[in-house]
Amino acid sequence: MSKIKVKAAALYSGGLDSTLAILQMMKYGVEVEAITFMTHFGCDASDRSTCGHDPYPAAEKFGFRVKLAHLGQKFIDIVKNPRYGRGRNMNPCIDCRLVMLAEARDYMELTGGQFVITGEVLGQRPMSQRRFTLDLIAKNCGLEGRLVRPLCGRLLPPTVPEKEGLIQREWLLDIEGRSRKRQMALAEQFGLSEYPNPAAGCLLTDERYSDRLRDLLKYDPDPDFNDLNLLRVGRHFRLSDRVKLVVGRDERENDLIESLRRPDDCIMEVLEFGSPIGLLRGEADETVMKTAASVVARYCDGKNEPLLRVTYVARNGDGALETAPAGEAELEKIRI
Ligand code: SF4
Repeated sequence: MSKIKVKAAALYSGGLDSTLAILQMMKYGVEVEAITFMTHFGCDASDRSTCGHDPYPAAEKFGFRVKLAHLGQKFIDIVKNPRYGRGRNMNPCIDCRLVMLAEARDYMELTGGQFVITGEVLGQRPMSQRRFTLDLIAKNCGLEGRLVRPLCGRLLPPTVPEKEGLIQREWLLDIEGRSRKRQMALAEQFGLSEYPNPAAGCLLTDERYSDRLRDLLKYDPDPDFNDLNLLRVGRHFRLSDRVKLVVGRDERENDLIESLRRPDDCIMEVLEFGSPIGLLRGEADETVMKTAASVVARYCDGKNEPLLRVTYVARNGDGALETAPAGEAELEKIRI
């Protein structure tokens, strides 16, 4: 092993592959500083629906540090305009990897590392882990040959740390394809007993969520964090170019919707029955208000009544509207 202290920054999601990549390097004495990310679209420690998982238990058990970084607006910008396109839905996986690697590079420099490692496996994911894509990412991530993939590196061209003798090619593995058998065997060798099942990806890989995001960007190319957070909750309806309605599906969602309410938003509900909260965002005229009230009425416990009284609280005054609950055909026309 090289005499100088070898240190790497690791792109870390808390999933099996990125944990194994770290352990594989630590096995040979490489010191690892991991970095994990939050975005407004999941794939992070805070969201169980994502391709990320709680990164801290493994870090504690095996003794490496994890830094949590929020990608904020930087990530929103690439979601809006990905340079390398998207997957099946709104997921810009290649740009996403590049922006995370750029952050990891900065972290590597800050912590005195010589290279960055990731848990990528050749051929495991359809878009971001094909050979062509791995090469493209390596070429464009700004690491100039200092990107090491410990799980499949033996199948890839030698990297700068290998050429400089900081790490040996034999330390790298040749795992390829979608099967996770080898990773599971490796996990057992390392004593890594608790790891999450592989998940499909962040919210941007979800069809329904992507429809909502597309709709939002169409009518508001510059949404703020509140608009994005609202996409995660409730049923969504487009009532006009300028107005949308979000209706809670249960108490938890009602609370969340209320917590995201802005001063200009209008809140609707049916007081006589168990009722969802409807949040109307945008400048609604009388017709739009009536449509919104009929949708909220449709999801309350009195939905079979011919006429319901829907109360609203708005910036320019409170009131109530008498309406019949919306019919299915009507809902389908406006559902996002
Ligand atoms: S699914 Fe794709 S876009 Fe979403 S976090 Fe993972 S790599 Fe990034």
